[in-house]
Amino acid sequence: MNINTEANREINVHITPHMHWDREWYFTAEHSRILLVNNMEEILTRLESDPDYPFYVLDGQTAILEDYFAVKPDAVERVKKLVEEKRLIIGPWYTQTDLMMVGAESITRNLLYGMKDCKPFKEVMNIGYLPDSFGMSAALPQILNGFGIEDAMFWRGCSERHGTHHTEFVWKSIDGSEVIAQVLPLGYAIGKYLPDDKDALFKRLNNYLEVLKKASFGGDLLLPNGHDQMPIQQNIFDIIELLKEIFPNYNFLLSRYETIFEKLKVKKDQLPRLIGEFNDGKYMRVHRTISSTRMDIKIQNAVIENKISNQLEPLATIAYSLGCEYHHGLIEKMWKEIMKNHAHDSISCCCSDPVHQEIKSRFWLADDMAENLIQFYMRKIVDNMEKIPSSESGTFRDRLAFFNFLPYPRNSIVNAIIRIRASDFNLYDVAGNKIEYSILSAKEIDPGLVDRQIVHYGNYDPFMEYEIQLPIEIPAMGYVALSIEKKSASGSNDAISILDRKENSSNKIENDFYIIEIQANGSINITDKKTNRTFDNALLIEEGSDDGDEYDYSPSRDEWLLYSTENKAKVEITSSPWQEKAKIQIEMSVPKDLDARKDKLKNSLIEITFTVALNRGDSQIHIDAYWKNDAEDHRVRVLFPYQWISESVIADTQFGTISRPVKDDAMTYWEQEDWKEAPIPVWQMLNFVAVENEVKNMSFALFTEGLREFEVIDWQGNQAIALTLFRSVGVLGKENLLLRPGRPSGIKLPTPDSQMLGHFSTRIGLGIYQDSVENAEIMRQAKEFNTPIRFYNKIPYDAMKLNLESFITPVTYSLVNTKPGKITLSVLKKAENSDAIISRWFNPSSTNQNNIALPKFNLPYRKYFEVNLAEEQIKQDNLLDSEVYFNPNQVKTFSFKIDK
Ligand SMILES: [Zn+2]
Repeated sequence: MNINTEANREINVHITPHMHWDREWYFTAEHSRILLVNNMEEILTRLESDPDYPFYVLDGQTAILEDYFAVKPDAVERVKKLVEEKRLIIGPWYTQTDLMMVGAESITRNLLYGMKDCKPFKEVMNIGYLPDSFGMSAALPQILNGFGIEDAMFWRGCSERHGTHHTEFVWKSIDGSEVIAQVLPLGYAIGKYLPDDKDALFKRLNNYLEVLKKASFGGDLLLPNGHDQMPIQQNIFDIIELLKEIFPNYNFLLSRYETIFEKLKVKKDQLPRLIGEFNDGKYMRVHRTISSTRMDIKIQNAVIENKISNQLEPLATIAYSLGCEYHHGLIEKMWKEIMKNHAHDSISCCCSDPVHQEIKSRFWLADDMAENLIQFYMRKIVDNMEKIPSSESGTFRDRLAFFNFLPYPRNSIVNAIIRIRASDFNLYDVAGNKIEYSILSAKEIDPGLVDRQIVHYGNYDPFMEYEIQLPIEIPAMGYVALSIEKKSASGSNDAISILDRKENSSNKIENDFYIIEIQANGSINITDKKTNRTFDNALLIEEGSDDGDEYDYSPSRDEWLLYSTENKAKVEITSSPWQEKAKIQIEMSVPKDLDARKDKLKNSLIEITFTVALNRGDSQIHIDAYWKNDAEDHRVRVLFPYQWISESVIADTQFGTISRPVKDDAMTYWEQEDWKEAPIPVWQMLNFVAVENEVKNMSFALFTEGLREFEVIDWQGNQAIALTLFRSVGVLGKENLLLRPGRPSGIKLPTPDSQMLGHFSTRIGLGIYQDSVENAEIMRQAKEFNTPIRFYNKIPYDAMKLNLESFITPVTYSLVNTKPGKITLSVLKKAENSDAIISRWFNPSSTNQNNIALPKFNLPYRKYFEVNLAEEQIKQDNLLDSEVYFNPNQVKTFSFKIDK
């Protein structure tokens, strides 16, 4: 044994007992719950019966306790006692969240509800502990600081390429927040099942201790004693005796993570300081291309997280300000359902088919809850408006209300569906003026579908269901309610009917901003009317092999890349007074699988339909994408070429933006250096990706809801953004991938559902701006893209009755009004524990934003305070009528206390 006695004398090895708890992975959550009930009994009994066994860490997540107490309610008091004694260590997260493809509000609520769960137990582990998440977001220090957490511990994503080879450093967010970071360079499981055989123990730890020592800044090494679903190691004291014998010059002790940070705090000034994300696969796999596995689930996640934070919470706040109850309990339940899915394995979709099925069910459940609560609040508001008598005696006009959840007024072209027992109707604004609309479609529906009571009483007269389109202005964070009157026989017809829509035989659509020409192959040439610059070949399809697994994309060694260049597309153009639309259908012959690709055989098909819409007065191009996939083991991307070369690409991350290089030099030498993964410049985004030209007077942006992976590629002398539409693989883990050598990640379990066969859909937005990403306010545009206007049609029928409230709601309303600007709203919600409205804003730009006026609420007020992400007051000053500043990428939360 070759141990340097002098050098090691001062070195402590902190053995921390823990279990890493993937709630689900290749096994289901119920499978792991059974093990949990078994393991918890052993852990509690050991801690209760052995005063010398000091600590046990419950993986930094409270979902473990929730799963446990649901079937062992009697255990609460036992757990409480041990947590209060600081021996059983719980929280702060609700689940072991992913950070690269989960939204800012989701990560914030993960800590908010996790720490709330810890409250009755009086203690919480104040460490941002994420030992297994695949990459660390640049925003994490700021989010942790927002909950008073100043320490972070993680494994994946770090290398000396970030500025230090040390495993301890001060990690800063761009806004200036900082945490002390302790990286687990060899993972969270190097001390799993420590053998009681001397030779085996020496063999296991000798190298590890050397690696840890080399990377460590101080005299304290971490040996986490645990693994995935590992039961407590009962003989740990015998092992420690053995370790002392084998490595006499190290000091082995049972310890808790907090002790390490207490020691690091003392030498904080000497620690290296790093800034930004950790997303590097040199030493540990970060699985960057996992962001396109099971794209159907990724899309479901984005849709539901946006629905809760961009629609439901602001709507519930509007309703609350009018007198309705704010349903905290229902909203917390939906967040928790989706946060179970935000666990790193779950949202990454490196799971078995049955587990993915359960993940989809949780999203379905959360979406059902959110959608029904949205409908409930809209109904409450519209039901309680003053009634307008209609021309038919004894009846009242129906209503059609439009809701805007952005903090500034919106002037938009909207579609709505109304149901009415009439063949014609007029729409009136709040002042009683008739307004124009266009009927897009009309159909007869069974009255039983409207309200089963109608047919119960024998009235079988059918209803008409119309899809209409109209331009409308809606107040900031509020609504406007139109009224609907059945048209009398003598009245004039105000509808511009569907028959008036032109079937356009050209191949062109146009609005105030763009001219779009559809090419024979289905790709589009976009002319920006302001600058007369053209962006050709957008929506071209790239199809290639995927010989990877659920963790990573990896091309086949017999790659054959195909493009839709030679395809013949079917194009259909329609226009209404406010919208021009092109429906483009592409059928692309592709190889059925890897064997067919090898033989250059096109024996399968993908069918893609893009509906490209230009609305009057709207600078975003709206693209709906539908596709049907019949082929296996391939990746399909949509290309958006632009006419310049960018060295970097900008995307959003939680509460900010991040700029990354479009090329990585390490691509030429990663294999010689035995990297764990190839550093292909495929990156994640949340809501947008954009490139600027060199002089920053032009930017080209894509907005998505769920497609959260892109790469900037060379394209015909310039570049293109390649947006991954989906990829198909048939196995959880595979070994020796071209881009990821060595062992399989996970296990070699077949996952036929991950071939993504069948029908799928999503939305893409595109905008071309005559300014930088920052000045064009592209983050705000992205928020707008993912915050749809909602409508509610009140008719006299509904099988589910509600009593009227004691208050009358106004027919038009605005809760808060600001000017659109560089500060973006993250969420508007009611405070968890007081009669206050929480509004959270962030500065996505790289420059300070000073003199920002706080939004004025149209409510009687008491106090206006700055709070942290945990909604605790952090500054004494009453901010009424004052201005605030934001650092680059800084998030600030304000509490507006209502005078109730
Ligand atoms: Zn894990």
